Amino acid sequence: MLKTGKEHLEGLRDGRTVYIGGEKVDDVTTHPAFAAAAQTVAGIYDAKRAPENLDLYSYEEDGERYSTWYLRAKSKDDLRRRMNCHKGIADMTYGMLGRSPDHVSGFVTGMATNPSAFDTEKYKFGDNLMAYYEHCRKNDIYATYAVLPPQAARNPDFYIKKNLPVPTLMVTEERDDGIIINGMKMLATSAVFCDEIWVGNLLPLAEDQVKQAVTCAVPVNAEGLTLWSRQPLNMNTTNEFDGPLAWRYDETDSMVMCENVFVPWEKVFVMDDAIKARAIYIETPSHCYGNHQSNVRFWSKLQLILGLCSKVAQATGAIQIPPVQEVLGRLSALEATLSGMIHGQIEAAEEWPNGYVTFNRRVMYAALNWCTESYSQIIDQLRELSGGGVFQMPASATVMHDPKIREQFEMYWQTPQMEALDRMKLFKVVWDMVGSEFAGRQQQYEKFYAGASFIVRNHSFRETDWGFFDGVVDDLMGSYDVPAAPMAAAAE
Ligand SMILES: Cc1cc2nc3c(=O)[nH]c(=O)nc-3n(C[C@H](O)[C@H](O)[C@H](O)COP(=O)(O)OP(=O)(O)OC[C@H]3O[C@@H](n4cnc5c(N)ncnc54)[C@H](O)[C@@H]3O)c2cc1C
Repeated sequence: MLKTGKEHLEGLRDGRTVYIGGEKVDDVTTHPAFAAAAQTVAGIYDAKRAPENLDLYSYEEDGERYSTWYLRAKSKDDLRRRMNCHKGIADMTYGMLGRSPDHVSGFVTGMATNPSAFDTEKYKFGDNLMAYYEHCRKNDIYATYAVLPPQAARNPDFYIKKNLPVPTLMVTEERDDGIIINGMKMLATSAVFCDEIWVGNLLPLAEDQVKQAVTCAVPVNAEGLTLWSRQPLNMNTTNEFDGPLAWRYDETDSMVMCENVFVPWEKVFVMDDAIKARAIYIETPSHCYGNHQSNVRFWSKLQLILGLCSKVAQATGAIQIPPVQEVLGRLSALEATLSGMIHGQIEAAEEWPNGYVTFNRRVMYAALNWCTESYSQIIDQLRELSGGGVFQMPASATVMHDPKIREQFEMYWQTPQMEALDRMKLFKVVWDMVGSEFAGRQQQYEKFYAGASFIVRNHSFRETDWGFFDGVVDDLMGSYDVPAAPMAAAAE
C-alpha cells in the first residue's frame, strides 16, 4: 500500500504525547512549530504515489506495490533503483531531511535480507523481524530510531548509589505477552512526524548491560511514551520568505521518554544480549543500506550549496575574479567526488548470502567519513563568498508591504546583476544555510547523525581487509634481499 499524504497526516493525530518545554502539543499537524514540516512529509508521500513517479518510488512484488526503500536488492540494477529513489526523495527537500521515510526503513530492509542474524540459542526473533518488515512495507510505515543512551548517563553507578532510576532505557519487567520498558533514549529525529520508533543500541554496550540490550519497535502513540522536542527552529520567523529552509524542513529532534511502556513480544527483536544488540546492524546490510541513503541525501544538499555559491558569486560580481572561480571549481570537484563515491558503491557492489547484494561497504563508509569531515569547511566557503551580503538585506519581507519603503528598497538594493527582491530572497536562503539556528542544527546533524567522527572511522577500520594492505608491503619487501657483500678479493 502506498499511503497518501492526507492519510499519513491523519495517522499523526493518534493521541501521541509531544512536549515543547512545558507545552503539550495537541496536534502536530497544526501546531505552528510543526505544521509546515508535516506538510513537507505529506508532500513526499503524495509525490511518491503520483502516476508518473510510480516506477521510481515504488516496486511491485506478488501483486502488491511497496515503496522502493523496502526493496531487497538482488542485483546492481536493484541497488541503482534504491539510489535513484533516495536521490529523488532527498531532492524534494534539498537534502534537509536526514530521517526522511527512506532512512530507517532502509535499516529494516537490510535486516530483512538476513533474519537469521536475530536468532540466538535463547530467542528466535528472526520471524519477528520479518513480520515487522512486512508490517512496515504493507502499511507504508514512517519509522525513526532512537539508538543511543542519553549522553552522560551511560554509567549507572552514579544513579544506583543515589538510589535514583537509571535514566537509560531498559527492560524492567518481562511478562507472558511482552516486556515493559522504562527510561530515555536519544535522539529521535523526525519522531513527531513518524508512525513508529525503532529502539535499539547502535553503540557497543558492555557485556553486563543486559537489560539495556533490548531492540524493539514502538508506535509513537504508545501509552507511557512521551517525546520531548528540542526548541523548534521555525519560531524565529513569521513567514516562509524570511527563513525558507527552517520553515519547511525543520525535521525536529526529540528525546524519547518511556514510562512503563508495554511492547508485545512480536515487536521485540533483541533481548538480553549486549553483543547482538549491535551486531544486527553489521551482520546484515542494515547499516549499509541506511547510510547509503545518508550519502545520497548529503549529495542533494551539496548540490544546493554549490548552486548557492555560484549564485552568490554572481550576485556580488565576484564570479569574474579568477581566485573566486578557483573556489567554485574546487567545490564543483568536491560535488563530483561525492557523486563518484555514490555510484562506485554500486559498481563495486558486494554479494551477500541468499542471492542478495549490497552497496560496497568500504566505499559507503569512506563517503560517510568524507561527508562528516567536509561539511563544516564546505559551508564555510559559502559563508566566505557571502561576505556581509546576508546582513545587507532588510530584516523581513514586510519591507515589500509599505509602498514608500518598497520603492526605496527596490531602487537602492538592486545591482547590475540582480533585482533587489531576488537578492534578498537569495541571501535569506544563504543565511538559513550558513548562519540561522536551522543552519547550526544542520551542521550539528552532519557531524553527529551517524555517531561522533571516531565512531564513523571505526566502521572503516572494521571493514578494511588489512591483510591485503599488509600484503602489498610484504610483496614489495619480499621482492629484494640483502645485497651480497662486496667480494673481498676484488677489494684487495
Ligand atoms: C541533530 C542530531 C540528530 C540526531 N538524530 C539521531 C537519531 O535520529 N537517532 C539516534 O539514535 N541518534 C541521533 N542523534 C544522536 C547521535 O547519534 C549522537 O549525537 C552521536 O552518536 C554522538 O553521541 P553523543 O551525542 O552522545 O556524543 P558523545 O559520545 O558524548 O561524544 C561527544 C564528543 O566527545 C568526544 N568523545 C567522546 N567519546 C570519545 C572517545 N571514545 N574517543 C574520542 N573522543 C570521544 C568527541 O569529541 C565527541 O565528538 C542525533 C544527533 C544530532 C546532533
